[in-house]
Amino acid sequence: MAGYLDARPRVGYFYTGKSGTQLLADKVKHITVNDYQSRPVVVQQSITIYDAICAMFLEDVGTLFVVDTDTTLVGVLSRKDLLRASLGKQALESMPVSIIMTRMPNITVCKKEDLIIEVANKLIDKQIDGLPIVVEVDRGSGYEVVGRITKTNITALLVDLANDEMI
Ligand code: ADP
Repeated sequence: MAGYLDARPRVGYFYTGKSGTQLLADKVKHITVNDYQSRPVVVQQSITIYDAICAMFLEDVGTLFVVDTDTTLVGVLSRKDLLRASLGKQALESMPVSIIMTRMPNITVCKKEDLIIEVANKLIDKQIDGLPIVVEVDRGSGYEVVGRITKTNITALLVDLANDEMI
């Protein structure tokens, strides 16, 4: 009954007046990226498109984050970025991913302490599958990738909510 009833000294228990939906919304608005995240898969911007395709298969992810020699975030590669490149007549084994990736500063990022509902809004708004979780650093692009949050993580949250098994 958590949330339906509250208690006050000298008053005792009372009905909060909140509906089940309001209580669920309250709960969701406290969940942060830190509670639902995955390990990031990063590749160097010098690797070839062919090697990035192999990395995506081997690591079983839909998005690769691209870093420079300072290990700071410089790009994002999605499945369709790599598919599009494969449709052309380019030499996939010699072209670096830096040619086809989405580049900084056009990358949408988030931080561990951000609310997951803000991330969900960004994914819908930008029509993308995931965001890199970053920390600010004072070198390179200014961001280091420390995690990944995707539609799959948000689906896991939905399942936990339905089963009332919140982290
Ligand atoms: P797919 O292209 O496989 O459907 P996405 O919807 O995630 O996957 O990506 C769509 C486009 O947005 C791609 O060109 C990709 O490089 C880019 N993209 C993916 N994630 C981000 C992000 N976090 N910030 C900016 N652009 C992104």
